[in-house]
Amino acid sequence: MTTHARPCLGHCPPHEPLSPDAEQVTWQNAEPARFARDPRVLDWTCECRLIIYEKTTCAGVYWIRRTDRTNPHHLVISETCPGGIEEINSLWEKIVSGAAV
Ligand SMILES: [Zn+2]
Repeated sequence: MTTHARPCLGHCPPHEPLSPDAEQVTWQNAEPARFARDPRVLDWTCECRLIIYEKTTCAGVYWIRRTDRTNPHHLVISETCPGGIEEINSLWEKIVSGAAV
C-alpha cells in the first residue's frame, strides 16, 4: 500500500473538535479486491493522527478509506460504500471538518 506523508500544520482534522451532532459514517470492512486494483489516492488526512482517512478512486468510482492505527500491530482498515465523486467529495468535506466521523 502506498503511504503518503503530509506535514502536520497542527490544525489538521480532527484536531478540530468533532461537532456534537457529527454524522456517523457507515464503515464496512475493506474489500481486498479493491486493494488489488491499486486505487489512486486523491486526498488524505495528516499522518499525525492515529486514524487516517484517504479519498480514493478506481475505475470511475470513489470511496473513502479509514485506517485505524491505534494498535500498530493490527491496522484496522475500513471503507465507505463506493459512490460518485460528488457524493464522496461531500462526505470527505464533512469528515475533514469534523461534521462526520
Ligand atoms: Zn497533523
